[in-house]
Amino acid sequence: MRVIAEHGRDDLAKVYVAELKDGSRIEFVESLQPPRPRAEKWVNIISTLAGCPMECAMCDAGGGYRRPLTEEEMRAQVEHLARARFDGGKPETKKWKLQLARMGEPALNPSVVGFLDGLGSEGHGNLTVSVSTIAPSGSARFLDDLKIVKDRHFRGRFQLQFSIHSTDESARRALMPAGALSLEEIAAQGRSFRSEGDKKVTLNFMAIKGVPIDAAAVAKAFGADDFLVKITPLNPTRRAQWSGLEPGFDAERPETASALVASFERLGFETILSIGALDENRIGSNCGQYAAEASAPQPREKDWVL
Ligand code: SF4
Repeated sequence: MRVIAEHGRDDLAKVYVAELKDGSRIEFVESLQPPRPRAEKWVNIISTLAGCPMECAMCDAGGGYRRPLTEEEMRAQVEHLARARFDGGKPETKKWKLQLARMGEPALNPSVVGFLDGLGSEGHGNLTVSVSTIAPSGSARFLDDLKIVKDRHFRGRFQLQFSIHSTDESARRALMPAGALSLEEIAAQGRSFRSEGDKKVTLNFMAIKGVPIDAAAVAKAFGADDFLVKITPLNPTRRAQWSGLEPGFDAERPETASALVASFERLGFETILSIGALDENRIGSNCGQYAAEASAPQPREKDWVL
């Protein structure tokens, strides 16, 4: 792996673009949560695929799909970030968070399980892992294998997030046209994933104008004992623009999401409004914006899904 570009700020977020031996490009990110210093909390966000075959309507990582990354290629991203900041490459920080949430749907790469198993066996007590998935059709086996690794190494330090985005299945199909598990299937997987002492499973809704998010439907399918809700703004990706998607609330005015948040809280859900630093959008650390640059899709009629 050869890092060919880096963008961003040392005190907030930095995106690295790397080229692999076969010429595939990936990107990975270091992120901080000011005012907390790196020694307190250090976040890595890595890619699991080169591109992504899912072509979701809001994500610049879709398109230009090459292949799943090997365990070594995922490891190389973490090592590059660690070597850049810590003597000897050992993350000396109180809370080290590794998110598999950059380019690529992790559930499409079975090597993710072996990669996490290897990392976990090194005994990093400060490491929390976060896997974010849209739960593609056929991902049940991956989630079962992931649970085994979570129970082996990361009990209580593992965050599973399902990005479901809407309670309306036809809207979900429009946003995630390659297909995802139904809400009922996701609920069953999420419940069986949790063991005693584990964090709640997160249900992420990227709020999009005109896309239904019905708290009562979530309560019926999921229940607040095992799941929490995270509301996020639509990221300013080119794909979202080309798909004709508009934000469901104004990220610069969080109060515009209050009614949505309250609808979940009334039903007992722990609900997080996660806006992140707006500066990060300017840096481009939220989406597959840099590595996708070369292979960005041109707008086509079929991209206008909503
Ligand atoms: S949102 Fe996830 S699954 Fe969809 S195209 Fe982007 S990386 Fe792939």
